[in-house]
Amino acid sequence: MRKGGDSLGLEFMLEFDDAPKGLARLVYASRVRDPGRGGLPEMVRAILLKSIHNNRMAAVTGILVVGEGRFLQLLEGPAGEVEAIFARVERDDRHDEVVVIARGAVERRLFRDWNMAQHHIVAADRGVLAKVGLTDFTPDVLDETSALTLLTTLGAQHLRWGKSPKAEAWSAR
Ligand code: FAD
Repeated sequence: MRKGGDSLGLEFMLEFDDAPKGLARLVYASRVRDPGRGGLPEMVRAILLKSIHNNRMAAVTGILVVGEGRFLQLLEGPAGEVEAIFARVERDDRHDEVVVIARGAVERRLFRDWNMAQHHIVAADRGVLAKVGLTDFTPDVLDETSALTLLTTLGAQHLRWGKSPKAEAWSAR
């Protein structure tokens, strides 16, 4: 990803040069394992710090949603990079019960602004969960369409509000 600027000094993101690489998207759900002494926030912080660094190097973007003992993550970028990252993630003992919901070639990114955005499910998300037929955050039962609806709806909150008290976005910028 490259950064650009205009004559007013405003910085903006240029489109990824994705076309020649073969874009892929992978969505999975998993179960959080015992986060240990530091608790879940510390575990998620460590995952995000590593993800943002690694994903930036690999031109991979996405979102990680956490809540009620579950993860739901979307990774997208050059196909080989997405698969290489997922191969590491799948083996990570900080979670288990990994269920792949979607995996394959795509024409464009849904999440191009963040190497890894992050959203914690909160009570106010009940309406969004209901929209995809969930009463609790149990993303492993979702099909691809519902998972993408949920992820893009949650992701849109970050676009609108940025670092609101409700949602924290970890930006690639
Ligand atoms: P290092 O950071 O050097 O890690 C070496 C080994 O130690 C790895 O096996 C790693 O799994 C393990 N490890 C490191 N820190 C911890 C810790 N605090 N607790 C337990 N084991 C640890 N990585 C990405 O690059 N991109 C992602 O988008 C991404 N998303 C993730 C989402 C989830 C839900 C989880 C659980 C992990 C995610 N990771 C992601 C982390 C990934 O599983 C690997 O830990 C990481 O990619 C390894 O990076 P590294 O090769 O630089 O090795």
